[in-house]
Amino acid sequence: MVPGRLQNERPLRDRKNPQPEPVFHLPGEAPCPAHPAHCRPPVRESGDIAGSGACKLVGPAGEVEVAEGVIAAKRHIHMTPADAAEFGVKDKDVVSVKVNTNGRALVFGDVVVRVSEKFSLAMHIDTDESNAACAVNGTMGELVK
Ligand SMILES: [Zn+2]
Repeated sequence: MVPGRLQNERPLRDRKNPQPEPVFHLPGEAPCPAHPAHCRPPVRESGDIAGSGACKLVGPAGEVEVAEGVIAAKRHIHMTPADAAEFGVKDKDVVSVKVNTNGRALVFGDVVVRVSEKFSLAMHIDTDESNAACAVNGTMGELVK
């Protein structure tokens, strides 16, 4: 298990079992800011947790310890089958997305396409990735194959 402690982190919520906002603690005493070198979970698609990191979550409602489940979610785009047809992609394709923010334009590679009738068109990246491109909610990107 990775030693360290995260303060004021906001882990992704489990949509099937939403919990109050927990404070995210990893066992141990070493300080562990947002993404330190000693705290690197594997990059995976959500739900692909076999063999991933362990952690202990401590929050106002109690604590829970899991033997695996700590991942950094892969960048991904949710889209409907109609969107996929329009963009010429299919479920599980890996594409790039160019973001033209003022002064910090960036091309995100390794973006997984996820197609379902239940989705609406949106790309999900983590906070560090967003900050690197000065992207905000609503920033538009260009899909590059
Ligand atoms: Zn998502």
